[in-house]
Amino acid sequence: MVTEAQVWGWLAEVPDPEIPVISVVDLGIVREVSVGEEVTVTVTPTYSGCPATSVITFEIDAALRRQGITPRIETRIAPPWTTDWITAEGRDKLRAYGIAPPVDGTAPTGRRVARMVGGNFTVACPRCGSTETEEVSRFGSTPCKAAWRCKSCAEPFDYFKCH
Ligand SMILES: [Zn+2]
Repeated sequence: MVTEAQVWGWLAEVPDPEIPVISVVDLGIVREVSVGEEVTVTVTPTYSGCPATSVITFEIDAALRRQGITPRIETRIAPPWTTDWITAEGRDKLRAYGIAPPVDGTAPTGRRVARMVGGNFTVACPRCGSTETEEVSRFGSTPCKAAWRCKSCAEPFDYFKCH
């Protein structure tokens, strides 16, 4: 018999297709695993325009099939995924990879906008930790990243803004 913990463990090895240093569990999109007559995995997609979502569903299905399980994958769209759901471990992995993790509470569902208006929106440099940073371009190497630059160490870096 398969346990829920085993399923979570396998899912923790499914990399995010765009940023393979974090898993789909780190990303916070796997909301629920239930093991009964069949294994059901409930996934909340990131934002609806993200091309990675269908790839993620496919990867989850493939990972469990490799374990001899044919999962039922359910999609739950409410409440919507926000970058706040990225786990602490996922944030550490992003930083280690040179990508600034999303600032807490700055998901695109509103609070970020408020902070931007207040002028307090700062992203810490993943290399030196300085908050003397600036946005270079809203669009980075993928639609989910913005290009930023650190004024302290002069290094460019990516900011993970959505998915
Ligand atoms: Zn820096």
